[in-house]
Amino acid sequence: LPAHLAPTLSAALDQIHTEAQALFGQGHVADYIPALARVPPRQFGMAVALTDGSTFAVGDAQTPFSIQSISKLFTFVLALKTQGDALWSRVGREPSGAAFNSMVQLETEHGIPRNPFINAGALVITDILTTGYAHLDYALLGAMRRLTDDPALSWNVAVARSERETGHRNMALAYFMKSYGNFVNPPELVLDNYCRQCAIEMSCAQLAQATMFLANGGRDLGRDGSPDEHMLSPADTRRVNALLLTCGAYDAAGDFAYRIGLPVKTGVGGGIVAIAPGMGTVAVWSPELDAKGNSVLGAFALERLVQLTGWHYASA
Ligand code: GLU
Repeated sequence: LPAHLAPTLSAALDQIHTEAQALFGQGHVADYIPALARVPPRQFGMAVALTDGSTFAVGDAQTPFSIQSISKLFTFVLALKTQGDALWSRVGREPSGAAFNSMVQLETEHGIPRNPFINAGALVITDILTTGYAHLDYALLGAMRRLTDDPALSWNVAVARSERETGHRNMALAYFMKSYGNFVNPPELVLDNYCRQCAIEMSCAQLAQATMFLANGGRDLGRDGSPDEHMLSPADTRRVNALLLTCGAYDAAGDFAYRIGLPVKTGVGGGIVAIAPGMGTVAVWSPELDAKGNSVLGAFALERLVQLTGWHYASA
């Protein structure tokens, strides 16, 4: 979107904000993590960051929320940076077509999860990083604090504890993979790290900023909008975006690609981040989820934004 069209983008966000309010009440806040069940449902925020450094926001775009599975994007990038192609012996890169926390494919596929963004795959990635970092929780937080320029960024201790105490299925996934030899560290230790990464809190504005490198050929933007840290090579950036397009929305990835057509990562906290390569990033948050665990208003807002801007992976 050229800079002179900025007023159009502001108007688009205002329009989407108004239209989205009509959809409140159609979904349900995630309640399988007790601490998340207490989040007030009728909230909506949206932020857009462009590769030229300009930013746009509407609604509750500055309110921190639990990023949950969006953290899997950041852990995967860290693993790709540190392990390269070696990680593909532990996890696949195919859409699963099954629920985010499903166990069924693990048995027929000998403990190798379909992709890094379903829970089983994300647990393997966290296992890999737990081996690589003595204090993964703080290494990850450090990376995310640099990406957001926010030294106070952290995880919510109550949410992490709540998930850790009730995450029996994730523990089962970890032990099941261990039975196939695809888990190195004690599942308890990996689950501690996993629950903390999921409980990291960010606002839409921060999430749009933190994922900018994926829209910008692998380069983060500094505070002044100029290229700053080199997060990923251009080739790896394209690969991450391809995986987000095909696997970023659980078993709704095909539907998201059809409706929105951009690489996305969703989370059960109600956040969704979308990458428009070469253009910018979009983060949207609204806690009410559909049956597949994706934000109802978030998906609507992204669908409307691409209609209004023409952003699409195939035109990037
Ligand atoms: N912490 C959540 C879980 O493992 C993340 C799931 C999600 O956001 O989809 O169940």
